[in-house]
Amino acid sequence: MALYIVGHKIPDSDSICSAIAVAYLKNRQGIEAIACKQGDINPETTFILDKFGLDTPITKNSFAGVDTFITDTTDLTLCPDDIMDANVIGVVDHHKLGDLTTSTPLEAWIRPVGCSNTIVKEMFDFYGVEIPKDIAGIMLCAILSDTVIFKSPTCTKADTKAVKELAEIAGIENPKELGIEMFKIKSEVEGTSIRDLVKRDFKDFNMNGTKVGIGQLEVVDLSVFDSMKDDLMKDLEALKVEGDRHSVLLLLTDIMKEGSELLISSNDESKIEEAFNQKPKDSKMWLDGVLSRKKQIVPFLEKVFK
Ligand code: MN
Ligand code: MN
Repeated sequence: MALYIVGHKIPDSDSICSAIAVAYLKNRQGIEAIACKQGDINPETTFILDKFGLDTPITKNSFAGVDTFITDTTDLTLCPDDIMDANVIGVVDHHKLGDLTTSTPLEAWIRPVGCSNTIVKEMFDFYGVEIPKDIAGIMLCAILSDTVIFKSPTCTKADTKAVKELAEIAGIENPKELGIEMFKIKSEVEGTSIRDLVKRDFKDFNMNGTKVGIGQLEVVDLSVFDSMKDDLMKDLEALKVEGDRHSVLLLLTDIMKEGSELLISSNDESKIEEAFNQKPKDSKMWLDGVLSRKKQIVPFLEKVFK
């Protein structure tokens, strides 16, 4: 029986590239492994796979009875819906420990670093398997994406070290330059529908029984959103009602100014005010220095929903 490797719902570059890299590693270890994804890939990931000539993983949504390796999450809301009926044999992740449980022992690679691919690099080193050029390239890009080119407070020495070593393997002279090129692709928002933008990088969180959806768009210049902010706000409200969510938030992150504008649709805005110690104005607020949903947004919301 083949082993399926899959990242979180609404896959980002880390989820896709880690699935491809872990599948390669497992195959080299003599285990037939197939990289897959839950949902479509985003423009940034398309750019990365094209650049290094790698195929997009297959789409797979049902994992009941299947050997599965999860990457880039351990939250049930982000895992495949039937993951509790799957045979989870391993996880690699860099988020808070979620609510995924298994019925048998598993291979668990979880570390507080900036990107799952940094840990996947450690897996290759641990097992003494060489990383091919193309796989090294996509792993490097995923780390640049998740760490916002090393600017995110989630970035650690392990991430910069991994990028240095992967750049050598992939023959990339200037990883930062490649990172900027990637974020320019990410910043192209015109021609995309409002709903697709809100959901491009969107995660639902179960905060002590309260459902909160948080999206994030990282761009090199926030002015690209000037003409669409009203429509974005309207769509957040619609998503809140449709998904029976308490709140829907959208982080518009300016990676050059290093901060985020938070757009809010909430059944109780005072919760958001309490979390960030700031009164929203027209359901918006500027959060200086905030680049990371995982480290600078989610923990503060979880505190007020306790
Ligand atoms: Mn991710
Ligand atoms: Mn990640």
